[in-house]
Amino acid sequence: MDEDVLTKNLIKQHTFRTWGKQKNWDPLVIKEGKGAYFYDSKGNKYLDFSSQFINVNLGYGNENVIKAIEKQLETLQYINPSLGVSIRAEASRALLEVMPKNITKFFFSTSGTEANEAAIKIIRLIKRPSFKILSRYRSYHGSTEGSISLTGDYRRWFVEPNIMPGVVRFPEPYCFRCPLKLKYPDCGIACANYVDYIIKQEKHVAGIIVEPITGTNGVIVPPKEYMPLLRKIAMENDVLFIADEVMTGWGRVGEWFAVNLWGVEPDILTTAKGASASYVPIGITGVSKEIGDFFEDNVFAHGHTFEAHPVSLAAIPAVISEYKRVNLLPHVREMGKYLGKRLNELKERHISIGDVRGVGLFWAVELVKDGKNTPFADYNDKYEGKPILLDLLAKKALESGVFVYNGPSWFIIAPPLVVEKEDIDKGVEALDKVIREADNQYRN
Ligand code: PMP
Repeated sequence: MDEDVLTKNLIKQHTFRTWGKQKNWDPLVIKEGKGAYFYDSKGNKYLDFSSQFINVNLGYGNENVIKAIEKQLETLQYINPSLGVSIRAEASRALLEVMPKNITKFFFSTSGTEANEAAIKIIRLIKRPSFKILSRYRSYHGSTEGSISLTGDYRRWFVEPNIMPGVVRFPEPYCFRCPLKLKYPDCGIACANYVDYIIKQEKHVAGIIVEPITGTNGVIVPPKEYMPLLRKIAMENDVLFIADEVMTGWGRVGEWFAVNLWGVEPDILTTAKGASASYVPIGITGVSKEIGDFFEDNVFAHGHTFEAHPVSLAAIPAVISEYKRVNLLPHVREMGKYLGKRLNELKERHISIGDVRGVGLFWAVELVKDGKNTPFADYNDKYEGKPILLDLLAKKALESGVFVYNGPSWFIIAPPLVVEKEDIDKGVEALDKVIREADNQYRN
């Protein structure tokens, strides 16, 4: 049997496909990556136009990060987290340079999911007996029981509805399709102001968690007033404010973290993905000094064997110094402007593009059915087994050499931050072609 087919069969038969049915799975066998590109076992080259799950921020094969990880592996691959190890100090020192100023203490895990689970426990320990947590309907915060409960996206939580008590959801600042049926700026940011009312009615609210820019649910960039207002409401009500920067952190939006766009300092910042540029698994729960101080005399009843894993930690200072070495943030801002311009040009050409939105190298192209505002596919179709046109379009883009991550009605365009204009052109061209197929339905 062809080695490629054998590999594919072993993967299909003996490993889990997640977030999709097993039977239609046809994984492409990928062999290696370099820069913004990866290659399959037959040598075909693919542009990564979404950094996989918006996490391969430095692209593939970064030698400096690889060297730092190898060095740690050779020196000390593991030590009980109650013992000290120098890489833990180095990682913290590097983080202090890039995190919002008030975030000064870190819990290290191995995923964004775990980073949020730790945040849940921290706020509930501090705010005891208050336990309620507010999160948004269109949100994703992870897939284990606590973080899936925070997640508002029905496509994710349907198997485990309300598994963790105490979560109260609120509407998102989705101006393209406002859940309150209002129009910005006349709305007076009602979706944020409503949160003040919820907190006062619910009582016992310990915290509020938001993705500063909603990620997997369609790159929803809030109006400029939104985050400062929400932060103020949390503070006035003595509720802890958690920014889930698992996807938005690490230069994705042209700043180290998305909260910097609005000068907002959260009480807790959770992150993962880009923190290691995906060279090793990592999750980080960063907390303010006040929160850190609470644990001087209170036990943080939490921990994992692989918490503060030295090899994961080794990636953090290496990634940060790589960002600085290549002056990545200004590059993201410049490329982001170019990408935004190119995607907006697509909107001019395609009747099925309803909205193009984003910042830095983090964009959504949202498709509509009626040339106006009707979602291209129902939000839940995918999990009800209905075929999704965007899945087929993404597959076609892949066949033409461009990988793009899609939701039921939107593509997320988020290339590795090291991307150049020619790469962007290549990706936009592939999108242009496949979106023409969506437009064709208007001719039928
Ligand atoms: N929060 C957000 C905003 C995310 O985008 C994700 C992953 N897509 C998570 C949490 C969960 O992170 P992980 O997949 O690393 O567990």
